Amino acid sequence: MALDQEIITELVKRVLGELAEERNVRPKESSGLHLAVEDAVEHAVEAQKSLIVMSLDSRAKLIAAMRQAALDNNEELSALAVQETQLGRYEDKIKENILCATKTPGTEDIGPMALSGDDGLMLLEYGPVGVIGALTPITNPTGTIINNSISMVAAGNAVVFNPHPNARETSTRMIRTLHQAIVDAGGPPGLIGAVRKPTLDTARQVIEHPKISMLVATGGKPVVDVVLRSGKKAIGAGAGNPPVLVDETAQIRKAAHCIVDGASINNNIFCTSEKEVIVVDEVANSLIKFMQETGKTYLLTPEEAAKITALVVTPERKINPSYIGKNVQVILGEIGIDLGEEYRLAIFEAPKDHPLVWLEQMMPIMPVVRVKDVQEGIQFAVEVEQGNRHTALMHSTNVEHMTAFARAIQTTIFVKNGPSYAGIGLGGEGHTAFTIAGPTGEGLTSARTYTRQRRCTLVESFRII
Ligand code: NAD
Repeated sequence: MALDQEIITELVKRVLGELAEERNVRPKESSGLHLAVEDAVEHAVEAQKSLIVMSLDSRAKLIAAMRQAALDNNEELSALAVQETQLGRYEDKIKENILCATKTPGTEDIGPMALSGDDGLMLLEYGPVGVIGALTPITNPTGTIINNSISMVAAGNAVVFNPHPNARETSTRMIRTLHQAIVDAGGPPGLIGAVRKPTLDTARQVIEHPKISMLVATGGKPVVDVVLRSGKKAIGAGAGNPPVLVDETAQIRKAAHCIVDGASINNNIFCTSEKEVIVVDEVANSLIKFMQETGKTYLLTPEEAAKITALVVTPERKINPSYIGKNVQVILGEIGIDLGEEYRLAIFEAPKDHPLVWLEQMMPIMPVVRVKDVQEGIQFAVEVEQGNRHTALMHSTNVEHMTAFARAIQTTIFVKNGPSYAGIGLGGEGHTAFTIAGPTGEGLTSARTYTRQRRCTLVESFRII
């Protein structure tokens, strides 16, 4: 097949242009995007050296500039994220980015700790780790990059991202935007960066690079396992399958509303979103009725549920990726159900062994499983969470039930009587994180996660009292 001469000329021009741009740039003009991992790392190393000699006040100004840039570019980047990845909802991406820009802690998170006593003074400070390699997911390309960048820079680090290749355009645009904000606010160029075309091979180079001292993987179990095997300090934020348990003491109408809102945000692609409902039989009919009454939930008949299952679950019992993150209208439309715009979720009654109870579906199709009592519910919810130790939810007014469930399931996030997103700070107390480190135990990450502790001891009586 002969390639059109014009195309060849255009390609050559573009490659030469990029090469010239990267090789000849003066650091001040760097965009944060590079042709090779090596370049990104070298820029990051230099930038981090400059960052740690800046005052904390100046560092705080860089964080403020990043927050503002994320907000200023929110509409454009949210639209691009939906367009490029075909996952989630524009209005929810907007919320995700506002949340990350405003509720990711900054330099205040690394305040020092001091102890004074008969033997003098001990000062504990949280120092940077250096250059961090961060692998980011397709599901939240903007939120994760905003959240990670603020946390990592606030702690005095530089970061080289390797975003998901299928969210390349959005992720690199986000990195470029934050990078520009840092430079405009007087920060060093190269502090955050990435290769222009991230791939699995560039991910490997980031993981293995000797000048990268910490790795952070936000994604499924395989990538978390990869960074944990790297021999470097690694933070693993892996998959979840959050069960929501409703007992007979719950405020059922409120529970129904919370579950619909939590499960349908961003078409269920948040790792924290409710993925299956487990409900005590006595209140199951009311819960389903109230979920329908929200006007946003369609109850599938058993026949429709069987057709949808055959569509979204492959014969190998895997989730069909074509339907991840799609609107409920698109998915149900495939079996001839025509839903109005107001619908956000479809539910169906499922037996305990239904694949969608066990798989992380990440789409607005949710099974509802009946159990005879709360004890059976707790035991079953623990099984379906599968040891991810990620997120679980309960609707109940019985404190003993809630305590028993929280103790049994051992998740990083446990939300009581609210939608799942309250657990990441959206309408709930506490900071936000889009890297929730269950497997390695750091929980909702923040600047302090990306530090190393350093102690300074002054012996003898250095006290003012
Ligand atoms: P993914 O695991 O496919 O990809 C995540 C990142 O890892 C991407 O950058 C990808 O390129 C990279 N990657 C994947 N396999 C790799 C390998 N073998 N070597 C090197 N790099 C590799 O995940 P995804 O589909 O982008 O995101 C959805 C998944 O992430 C879900 O399971 C969700 O629960 C999870 N997630 C978890 C959190 C959390 O905070 N715990 C947050 C968001 C998403």
